[in-house]
Amino acid sequence: MKILRNRAKCLICGEILENKYRHDFKTCKCGNLSVDGGKDYIKRSVKYLDKFEELSEFEGEGDERS
Ligand SMILES: [Zn+2]
Repeated sequence: MKILRNRAKCLICGEILENKYRHDFKTCKCGNLSVDGGKDYIKRSVKYLDKFEELSEFEGEGDERS
């Protein structure tokens, strides 16, 4: 499955992290959430698993509805 957007939101500080490149490692300002992998793979590093929201988009998602 192809990754269109590698994105996640931290629910503690509200920051949305978008990862566009393979080695574009990003951490939100409160340090709860880190994202990595760009469009090759999705990697998440989270301190509190219930405190982040997955916002990634994949190619082909939603096709069954149309
Ligand atoms: Zn945060």
